[in-house]
Amino acid sequence: MPMKDSLTVYRKKRDFSKTREPEGKKRATSGKKPLYVIQKHDASRLHYDLRLEIDGALKSWVVPKGPSTSPKEKRLAVLTEDHPMEYANFEGVIPEGEYGAGTIIVWDRGRYRNLKKDAKGQEVPMDKCFKKGRIEIWLQGKKLKGGFALVRFRGKNWLLIKMRDKEANDKKNIVKSSPKSVKSQKTVEQVKRAKTRGKSVKTSKRKRTAKKAA
Ligand code: MN
Repeated sequence: MPMKDSLTVYRKKRDFSKTREPEGKKRATSGKKPLYVIQKHDASRLHYDLRLEIDGALKSWVVPKGPSTSPKEKRLAVLTEDHPMEYANFEGVIPEGEYGAGTIIVWDRGRYRNLKKDAKGQEVPMDKCFKKGRIEIWLQGKKLKGGFALVRFRGKNWLLIKMRDKEANDKKNIVKSSPKSVKSQKTVEQVKRAKTRGKSVKTSKRKRTAKKAA
Protein backbone atom coordinates (compact mmCIF):
# COMPACT_ATOMS: atom_id res chain seq x y z
CA MET A 1 0.00 0.00 0.00
CA PRO A 2 1.56 3.35 -0.98
CA MET A 3 2.19 5.67 1.96
CA LYS A 4 -0.20 8.37 0.73
CA ASP A 5 -3.09 5.91 1.07
CA SER A 6 -2.13 4.80 4.54
CA LEU A 7 -5.25 6.34 6.14
CA THR A 8 -7.75 4.58 3.84
CA VAL A 9 -8.21 1.66 6.23
CA TYR A 10 -8.70 4.07 9.14
CA ARG A 11 -11.46 5.97 7.29
CA LYS A 12 -13.21 2.83 6.02
CA LYS A 13 -13.66 1.51 9.55
CA ARG A 14 -15.39 4.66 10.82
CA ASP A 15 -18.62 6.58 10.21
CA PHE A 16 -17.65 10.21 10.81
CA SER A 17 -21.29 11.28 11.08
CA LYS A 18 -21.46 9.15 14.23
CA THR A 19 -18.02 9.29 15.85
CA ARG A 20 -16.19 12.44 16.84
CA GLU A 21 -12.80 10.98 15.99
CA PRO A 22 -10.87 13.09 13.45
CA GLU A 23 -11.26 12.23 9.78
CA GLY A 24 -7.64 13.08 9.04
CA LYS A 25 -8.21 14.86 5.75
CA LYS A 26 -4.55 15.35 4.98
CA ARG A 27 -1.28 13.81 5.93
CA ALA A 28 0.79 16.21 7.97
CA THR A 29 4.03 16.30 9.83
CA SER A 30 4.23 18.09 13.13
CA GLY A 31 7.39 19.81 11.87
CA LYS A 32 9.19 19.31 15.17
CA LYS A 33 10.62 16.17 16.68
CA PRO A 34 8.22 13.32 15.85
CA LEU A 35 5.18 12.85 18.06
CA TYR A 36 4.57 9.98 20.41
CA VAL A 37 1.28 9.21 22.17
CA ILE A 38 -0.30 6.41 24.17
CA GLN A 39 -4.07 6.42 24.50
CA LYS A 40 -5.89 4.35 27.09
CA HIS A 41 -8.92 2.82 25.42
CA ASP A 42 -11.70 1.29 27.46
CA ALA A 43 -13.30 -0.68 24.60
CA SER A 44 -14.85 -4.18 24.73
CA ARG A 45 -11.46 -5.04 26.18
CA LEU A 46 -9.35 -2.39 27.95
CA HIS A 47 -6.08 -1.73 26.14
CA TYR A 48 -3.50 0.93 25.36
CA ASP A 49 -2.80 2.30 21.87
CA LEU A 50 0.80 3.25 21.19
CA ARG A 51 1.24 5.67 18.28
CA LEU A 52 4.41 7.00 16.69
CA GLU A 53 4.65 9.68 14.03
CA ILE A 54 6.34 8.16 11.00
CA ASP A 55 6.10 9.89 7.59
CA GLY A 56 3.17 12.15 8.40
CA ALA A 57 0.85 9.60 10.01
CA LEU A 58 0.63 7.80 13.33
CA LYS A 59 1.80 4.19 13.13
CA SER A 60 -0.32 2.39 15.73
CA TRP A 61 -0.04 -0.68 17.95
CA VAL A 62 -2.56 -2.14 20.37
CA VAL A 63 -0.79 -2.95 23.64
CA PRO A 64 -3.21 -5.09 25.68
CA LYS A 65 -1.35 -4.76 29.01
CA GLY A 66 0.04 -1.27 28.38
CA PRO A 67 3.69 -0.27 28.59
CA SER A 68 6.11 -1.27 31.35
CA THR A 69 9.09 0.60 32.78
CA SER A 70 10.79 -2.74 33.48
CA PRO A 71 13.14 -4.22 30.84
CA LYS A 72 12.09 -7.66 32.14
CA GLU A 73 8.49 -7.11 31.07
CA LYS A 74 8.12 -7.54 27.32
CA ARG A 75 4.71 -6.30 26.26
CA LEU A 76 2.83 -7.61 23.23
CA ALA A 77 2.07 -4.81 20.73
CA VAL A 78 -0.18 -5.70 17.80
CA LEU A 79 0.13 -3.49 14.73
CA THR A 80 -3.14 -1.86 13.68
CA GLU A 81 -4.13 0.70 11.03
CA ASP A 82 -2.37 4.07 10.68
CA HIS A 83 -4.16 6.95 12.41
CA PRO A 84 -4.13 10.63 11.34
CA MET A 85 -1.85 13.03 13.20
CA GLU A 86 -4.83 14.83 14.79
CA TYR A 87 -5.72 11.60 16.59
CA ALA A 88 -3.01 12.34 19.14
CA ASN A 89 -5.38 14.93 20.68
CA PHE A 90 -8.48 12.77 20.67
CA GLU A 91 -10.13 12.10 23.98
CA GLY A 92 -13.78 11.16 24.38
CA VAL A 93 -16.41 8.51 23.88
CA ILE A 94 -16.87 6.54 20.65
CA PRO A 95 -20.59 5.70 20.49
CA GLU A 96 -21.90 2.18 20.90
CA GLY A 97 -22.15 0.23 17.67
CA GLU A 98 -19.23 2.15 16.14
CA TYR A 99 -15.75 0.76 15.53
CA GLY A 100 -13.73 0.87 18.77
CA ALA A 101 -16.79 1.87 20.84
CA GLY A 102 -15.74 3.00 24.30
CA THR A 103 -13.84 5.74 26.09
CA ILE A 104 -10.40 7.06 25.11
CA ILE A 105 -8.02 9.25 27.09
CA VAL A 106 -4.60 10.63 26.19
CA TRP A 107 -2.64 8.56 28.71
CA ASP A 108 0.79 9.90 27.74
CA ARG A 109 2.15 12.21 25.06
CA GLY A 110 5.41 13.79 24.00
CA ARG A 111 8.13 13.57 21.40
CA TYR A 112 10.61 10.86 20.54
CA ARG A 113 14.12 10.56 19.17
CA ASN A 114 15.26 7.83 16.78
CA LEU A 115 18.17 5.88 18.31
CA LYS A 116 18.76 3.39 15.52
CA LYS A 117 22.14 3.68 13.84
CA ASP A 118 23.68 1.58 11.08
CA ALA A 119 27.17 0.01 11.21
CA LYS A 120 28.69 3.33 10.11
CA GLY A 121 26.97 5.22 12.89
CA GLN A 122 24.44 6.87 10.58
CA GLU A 123 20.85 7.20 11.74
CA VAL A 124 18.54 4.66 10.08
CA PRO A 125 15.35 6.47 8.95
CA MET A 126 12.22 5.55 10.94
CA ASP A 127 10.30 4.21 7.92
CA LYS A 128 13.18 1.81 7.27
CA CYS A 129 13.25 0.73 10.93
CA PHE A 130 9.50 0.14 10.75
CA LYS A 131 9.77 -1.97 7.58
CA LYS A 132 12.58 -4.00 9.11
CA GLY A 133 10.58 -4.51 12.29
CA ARG A 134 13.26 -3.08 14.56
CA ILE A 135 12.59 0.29 16.15
CA GLU A 136 14.70 1.87 18.89
CA ILE A 137 13.58 5.21 20.26
CA TRP A 138 14.08 7.59 23.18
CA LEU A 139 10.71 8.68 24.57
CA GLN A 140 10.18 12.14 26.01
CA GLY A 141 6.68 11.71 27.36
CA LYS A 142 5.22 13.01 30.59
CA LYS A 143 5.07 9.49 32.02
CA LEU A 144 7.32 7.35 29.85
CA LYS A 145 10.93 8.40 29.38
CA GLY A 146 14.07 6.82 28.06
CA GLY A 147 14.88 4.10 25.58
CA PHE A 148 12.27 1.70 24.23
CA ALA A 149 12.54 -0.98 21.57
CA LEU A 150 9.74 -2.26 19.34
CA VAL A 151 10.64 -5.57 17.74
CA ARG A 152 8.49 -7.48 15.27
CA PHE A 153 8.47 -11.21 15.83
CA ARG A 154 5.55 -12.59 13.79
CA GLY A 155 3.28 -10.86 11.27
CA LYS A 156 1.54 -8.00 13.06
CA ASN A 157 2.90 -9.06 16.45
CA TRP A 158 5.63 -6.92 17.95
CA LEU A 159 7.13 -6.63 21.43
CA LEU A 160 7.48 -3.34 23.29
CA ILE A 161 10.51 -3.49 25.57
CA LYS A 162 11.97 -0.91 27.94
CA MET A 163 15.73 -0.57 27.47
CA ARG A 164 18.03 -0.78 30.45
CA ASP A 165 18.88 2.87 31.25
CA LYS A 166 18.48 5.39 34.06
CA GLU A 167 14.73 5.65 33.39
CA ALA A 168 14.16 1.89 33.76
CA ASN A 169 12.31 0.80 36.89
CA ASP A 170 11.54 -2.84 37.70
CA LYS A 171 9.29 -2.06 40.65
CA LYS A 172 6.96 0.57 39.24
CA ASN A 173 3.61 -0.39 37.74
CA ILE A 174 3.08 2.77 35.73
CA VAL A 175 -0.33 1.95 34.23
CA LYS A 176 -1.62 1.39 37.76
CA SER A 177 0.15 4.27 39.51
CA SER A 178 -0.53 6.87 36.77
CA PRO A 179 -4.00 6.17 35.37
CA LYS A 180 -5.01 9.73 34.44
CA SER A 181 -5.02 11.64 31.16
CA VAL A 182 -2.10 14.01 30.58
CA LYS A 183 -4.52 16.20 28.60
CA SER A 184 -7.45 16.60 31.01
CA GLN A 185 -6.08 15.02 34.21
CA LYS A 186 -9.21 12.83 34.17
CA THR A 187 -9.51 9.06 34.46
CA VAL A 188 -11.28 7.00 31.78
CA GLU A 189 -14.24 6.69 34.17
CA GLN A 190 -14.45 10.47 34.67
CA VAL A 191 -14.38 11.16 30.91
CA LYS A 192 -17.01 8.49 30.36
CA ARG A 193 -19.28 9.88 33.08
CA ALA A 194 -18.92 13.49 31.85
CA LYS A 195 -19.77 12.57 28.25
CA THR A 196 -22.59 10.20 29.14
CA ARG A 197 -24.18 12.80 31.41
CA GLY A 198 -24.13 15.34 28.56
CA LYS A 199 -25.77 12.83 26.27
CA SER A 200 -28.61 11.90 28.61
CA VAL A 201 -29.46 15.60 29.08
CA LYS A 202 -29.72 16.01 25.33
CA THR A 203 -31.89 12.90 25.03
CA SER A 204 -34.32 13.99 27.72
CA LYS A 205 -34.58 17.44 26.12
CA ARG A 206 -35.41 15.84 22.79
CA LYS A 207 -37.99 13.61 24.47
CA ARG A 208 -39.63 16.61 26.11
CA THR A 209 -39.82 18.43 22.79
CA ALA A 210 -41.29 15.35 21.15
CA LYS A 211 -43.92 15.09 23.88
CA LYS A 212 -44.90 18.75 23.45
CA ALA A 213 -45.22 18.32 19.71
CA ALA A 214 -47.37 15.20 20.10
MN1 MN B 1 -7.83 1.18 20.61
